[in-house]
Amino acid sequence: MSQPPDFPLRRLRVTAVRRITPRTLRVTLGGSSLAGFTLAGPDQQVKLFLPRMPGTEPVLPAVGADGDVMRWYGAYAAIPEEDRPWMRSYTLRAHDPVAETVDIDFHLHGEAGSAGDEGPATRWARSARPGDPLGVFGPSAAFAVPFEPGAGDWTLLYADACAVPALATVVAALPAGRPALAYVQVDDPADVQPLATAGDLTVRLLPHDVPAADAVRAGTLPPGSPSGWLAGEASAVRRLRRHLVEERGVDRRAIHFTGYWRRRLSQDDAPTSEDLAEARERLSTG
Ligand SMILES: Cc1cc2nc3c(=O)[nH]c(=O)nc-3n(C[C@H](O)[C@H](O)[C@H](O)COP(=O)(O)OP(=O)(O)OC[C@H]3O[C@@H](n4cnc5c(N)ncnc54)[C@H](O)[C@@H]3O)c2cc1C
Repeated sequence: MSQPPDFPLRRLRVTAVRRITPRTLRVTLGGSSLAGFTLAGPDQQVKLFLPRMPGTEPVLPAVGADGDVMRWYGAYAAIPEEDRPWMRSYTLRAHDPVAETVDIDFHLHGEAGSAGDEGPATRWARSARPGDPLGVFGPSAAFAVPFEPGAGDWTLLYADACAVPALATVVAALPAGRPALAYVQVDDPADVQPLATAGDLTVRLLPHDVPAADAVRAGTLPPGSPSGWLAGEASAVRRLRRHLVEERGVDRRAIHFTGYWRRRLSQDDAPTSEDLAEARERLSTG
């Protein structure tokens, strides 16, 4: 693919797949386009373009000489639905500059014992084999809002099962000795992968059947002003943020929050009025 050198679209292939927790698959991706790639920091999201038929090359538009992302996206959206690759958001869990590979951890939602329905990205990961091709767009400043884990007096984190991979990159970036409290909400504690950090991290597992905001409301928080990072099911994240801002007095600008998925809606579904309100709020505090 000949494209402007700074356009972050890559065709990669699966090089390895391994199960790292009962419901998490680590998929390693490689390709010559990763030569010279660097990972700018934690919490780096990418858009995956997954072929409808796993194992086949995804149909992706050519990138124009002007490198215009919106024009490229328009061409992608114009691909007939039956050929258009699924586009899904995932986090770069790790980068190995020597092997020129990146890892992505797929939480297998919808799998026995785990909440939710299955979706095409989960199905793709479950069937992934070395050699399988996919497209990867990003990381890109267009959709990555950097989180500064060392701001404020301490770091407050929340992740559900599919946000644990991103959480792992955030805690790995905590400065040495930095106080941090991570609320983790999973159906099965075995799905919490090891969270390596130099920070002074406390992990509190929240019950899976209680809304996160209610579970956090029932506990105490350390003194001082936190910087917050919240990721998980959209309405749970919204309610938790509201609790922290309205009932705990946390500065709304100090909380970085992202809805990772929506109950009974796929990432192909249009934004709801709540999603749009959240986007407006994000812009107003941005
Ligand atoms: C910035 C960002 C980074 C992300 N990083 C990761 C990551 O590193 N690893 C990861 O596993 N996920 C990650 N996600 C979440 C992932 O994009 C969604 O879970 C996505 O919907 C999965 O696509 P799908 O095709 O499997 O399901 P979809 O087709 O989108 O949805 C199908 C059905 O599954 C349900 N569903 C979707 N996701 C979940 C879930 N997590 N739990 C329970 N039910 C669900 C939906 O409600 C729907 O009913 C990230 C999301 C964002 C926005």
